[in-house]
Amino acid sequence: MATKLSRGCACGAVHYECNVDPVIMLNCHCRDCQRANGSAYAAIVVVPKAAVQMRGEPRYHKVVEKAGKAVERGFCSTCGSQVTVKLDRLPDVLGLQAGSLDDPSIHRPAMDVFASSAQPWDHMDPKIQKHPQGPPL
Ligand SMILES: [Zn+2]
Ligand SMILES: [Zn+2]
Repeated sequence: MATKLSRGCACGAVHYECNVDPVIMLNCHCRDCQRANGSAYAAIVVVPKAAVQMRGEPRYHKVVEKAGKAVERGFCSTCGSQVTVKLDRLPDVLGLQAGSLDDPSIHRPAMDVFASSAQPWDHMDPKIQKHPQGPPL
């Protein structure tokens, strides 16, 4: 089943298309995602970077994690929507913010990562894998 993932930011200045299935889908509860999204976690659909066609470049904000690896979060510089996530240590994949998809209901998270910093008001699905720190990738 080849899923067509498309959409982008709220104003349309940043648009992406991807015609392959996600590598993995997860919810990241790290403090940096909480800050960037202004919410409990980031719902991320990870896809092969080579399969994504972007129209309009997100602006990237880089954060260096404790482990010394950088994470760059891409957002639209016009409307501020969080759209993409790039990981230094996994240069071949791109994270798409599930809420930026045309159909966010396709998001089926396989795991919660950085569950140790999940907020008490965040209700995680007890049936999916929990990783206190980063994903085991
Ligand atoms: Zn926009
Ligand atoms: Zn995170």
